[in-house]
Amino acid sequence: MPTYDGYTERQMLDVLAQRCQVVKLEAVEISDQRSDYLVRAWRLHCLSHEYGEFEQTGESLFHLIYTAFKPHKPFADEQREKLRELGKRLKQNLAAAKGELVGEINKTGLDCMALCLGAANKWRVLPKPETDRHEVIECPKCKGKLEMFQSSHNGHVSGQCETEGCLSWME
Ligand SMILES: [Zn+2]
Repeated sequence: MPTYDGYTERQMLDVLAQRCQVVKLEAVEISDQRSDYLVRAWRLHCLSHEYGEFEQTGESLFHLIYTAFKPHKPFADEQREKLRELGKRLKQNLAAAKGELVGEINKTGLDCMALCLGAANKWRVLPKPETDRHEVIECPKCKGKLEMFQSSHNGHVSGQCETEGCLSWME
């Protein structure tokens, strides 16, 4: 699978979906300039506050996504760094708790952490609230009930999904 600095198409699209008000990907047919045959192509349309409108049509999906993603890369890098840190911390905590080495956090684990981080950041109020906050929201993973809590003491957000084995974290 082709990647751009470690980002897969899917990950770049996820970043675009987070950053843009509109992301539209269509399968279209364009006529090949040399042969005049209709060939399958992709059209990607994105609209973001920061970088305005992006629209391109091309046969290489990867190239389209990469071109649209490029200006958002610094943001994505920052998020990736946060996830790595979180992953490291989680591993350390688990290792400490169990007194044994915990295996590599797999891809699913990182995806889950991205969801946790996303939910926490979306719900968090800044600066920290004057009284503890508590609310039940829809879980972004299973659509079940996700209990959110923000501490008035340090502003940290924790969440616990009702579904066993689903999202659960503490900051
Ligand atoms: Zn859930």
